[in-house]
Amino acid sequence: MRGEIKVILPLICYFLMQPVNLHTIPIDRLSLPLLFEQHIEAAVLRLDNIHPIISGNKWFKLRYYLEEAKKQNKKNIVTFGGAWSNHIVATAAACNMNNFNCTGIIRGEEPSTLSKTLLQAAGYGMKLVFTDRQQYKEKKIPAVISNEENFIIPAGGYGILGTAGAATILDHCQKEQYTHICCAVGTGTMMSGLIQGSVPGNLIIGISVLKNTFDTEKNIQSLLLKEQNNFQIIHDYHFGGYARKKYELTAFMNTFYRQTGIPSDFVYTGKLFFGIIDMLQKKAFFPGSRLLIIHSGGLQGNRSLENGTLIF
Ligand SMILES: *Cc1c(COP(=O)(O)O)cnc(C)c1O
Repeated sequence: MRGEIKVILPLICYFLMQPVNLHTIPIDRLSLPLLFEQHIEAAVLRLDNIHPIISGNKWFKLRYYLEEAKKQNKKNIVTFGGAWSNHIVATAAACNMNNFNCTGIIRGEEPSTLSKTLLQAAGYGMKLVFTDRQQYKEKKIPAVISNEENFIIPAGGYGILGTAGAATILDHCQKEQYTHICCAVGTGTMMSGLIQGSVPGNLIIGISVLKNTFDTEKNIQSLLLKEQNNFQIIHDYHFGGYARKKYELTAFMNTFYRQTGIPSDFVYTGKLFFGIIDMLQKKAFFPGSRLLIIHSGGLQGNRSLENGTLIF
């Protein structure tokens, strides 16, 4: 029913929370014939390894929001997302770790069975509030949970603090070495952080996972502290749009895993790796290029796939 709001109270916390490990983020060198032939080097920064749950870029995007909430003495974090959202489960886990209460405003009516992602978020103590799509779009905070102890984090961590956090991703590699830094692009917050954290000589290449969202460039500029033009978004690898997939994509993800041992997800990093490999095949990078590909983690989406689709 339109306007109806369903609240699910947190489940008992049964997960043991491991700390985030930023000390040893692996950088895996890819060895593919395609690279040797063109005298190109490529390495993958494995942000998917920093934590089993808060994987990838989400922790980086959240870090300064949580610091700010602490500074402002807020007790409850409120954020937004869909049923398979990496951001929702990452926020739930990060709040659990940092002793915040948290509420997730979930797009759509309450399903008869919760997605694994939402169950897990509830397991970390997140209160789930379901709103219909129209209210969600308007980003209204439902009256049942509005009070001044709340600190709001925009969906996907989009915003200046998210960007500042994402800029610190590049502290975990020798960024001067690379000619290109490649990432998946949803809201563009991570990409704007990579641009902000980049040094002269880095070109940031973003593979958009959304269809025809040509505002992303503008959104990224608006998140940057100063105008920058060392970036480019590629709009050719969305596979039909956000969280859409084709057999060609999941088949590629399996092949890529066989060749490199690197798992990916069909929402973000699968499209990223597909795009970069396809661009390499089309000779989009000059000989001598040194690529850093950001594995932004986030394997949540794969949990919605039929068993057996992926080999990892
Ligand atoms: C959220 C997410 C992204 C997109 O990040 P934005 O900052 O919204 O562009 C990319 N990769 C993974 C794995 C994600 O979970």
